[in-house]
Amino acid sequence: MDNGATTQKPQTVLDTLVRIYSQQNANIHRGVHFLSEQATEAYESARRTVCDYLNALLSQEIIFTSGVTAAINLVAFSYGERYIKQGDEIIVSQMEHHSNIVPWQMMCNRKGAVLKVIPISDSGELLMEEYQKLLSPKTRLVAVAHVSNTLGTVNPVKDIIRLAHEAGAHVLLDGAQSVQHIAIDVQDLGCDFFAFSGHKLYGPTGIGILYGRKELLDELPPWQGGGDMVDCVRFERSTYNELPFKFEAGTANYIDAVGLESAIRYVHQLGLDNIAAREADLTQYALAALQEIGGIRIYGMAKDRIGTFSFLLNGIHPYDTGMILDKMGIAVRTGTHCTQPIMQRFGIEGTVRASLCFYNTCEEIDKLCEGLQKVKKLFA
Ligand code: PMP
Repeated sequence: MDNGATTQKPQTVLDTLVRIYSQQNANIHRGVHFLSEQATEAYESARRTVCDYLNALLSQEIIFTSGVTAAINLVAFSYGERYIKQGDEIIVSQMEHHSNIVPWQMMCNRKGAVLKVIPISDSGELLMEEYQKLLSPKTRLVAVAHVSNTLGTVNPVKDIIRLAHEAGAHVLLDGAQSVQHIAIDVQDLGCDFFAFSGHKLYGPTGIGILYGRKELLDELPPWQGGGDMVDCVRFERSTYNELPFKFEAGTANYIDAVGLESAIRYVHQLGLDNIAAREADLTQYALAALQEIGGIRIYGMAKDRIGTFSFLLNGIHPYDTGMILDKMGIAVRTGTHCTQPIMQRFGIEGTVRASLCFYNTCEEIDKLCEGLQKVKKLFA
């Protein structure tokens, strides 16, 4: 029940990785030989598959990164260099993962810009009226999680995007916790950037995606320099490659990109609608079962939510709960979940987090609840 941190990998993904390493391995974009061409085609096919998965307009809008953290840092650096000046404002929310706070803070420090924060309600939902008050002609970019990794809240991102665009600001969505649960259509959402990590979508670690609208990416300077991202290199001055290669310096993680493609195919095979329906049932079941436990407080009770539950048992430290559950073979996460501002908001040190995905079962949820009853008895 720690799928928010990372998901398990289906056999088909593992088989794909072994097949590529053993039969098809060659560096991409660098050779005329057969293997290199094959590897390059496999990598570019993975890009097209991600493009389709997000319903992006162009595969040039899909940039491979090492994960969502790298994708956000890329935008924070490049967008900052191109668009941000002293006194400009960036808006994030109080429920962001540290990955969607610290890169913006660093950028604000570099550029003399100001970070503004959308507060959240007691139920763990964004206070949209407060958000509207924060938007101003100084707002350049709004960066928010599509789904909270701690509270399970699904944010009203279409409204967030519409309001930001009306104010003349761009929007980055952190899709780390949405892309595996909710069908994403970046054109319909209208976001300017969307980022996610492959390892939370049943894919390998070390691979992630930055989607950006082409007109915008074309305007941004490269983030890192090196091989593949250049066109002509002279000591006086170098020119840069076209999209998406401008943002992919050095040997790309071409193996895990194809692993990610395999994971997306796996999700397609199951059907994201089927996954969502199954997870909605598990979420309802878990919510009802957890609420039956006396003395539990669940942090995050949004109406629109996924099956991620942060909670505390009355007076019991989350590490104690987590360790006892571990002894029973139940894997939950404890601590701040890289969202210290949420803990500050609720005046707590941390929580226990159970994060479900489609392969969890109602029996497992029952075991979790039995485990929590045991923890309560032990500490009574
Ligand atoms: N944002 C959110 C909402 C997340 O849940 C996570 C992972 N817990 C991240 C960003 C960072 O992901 P990664 O470590 O894969 O870059």
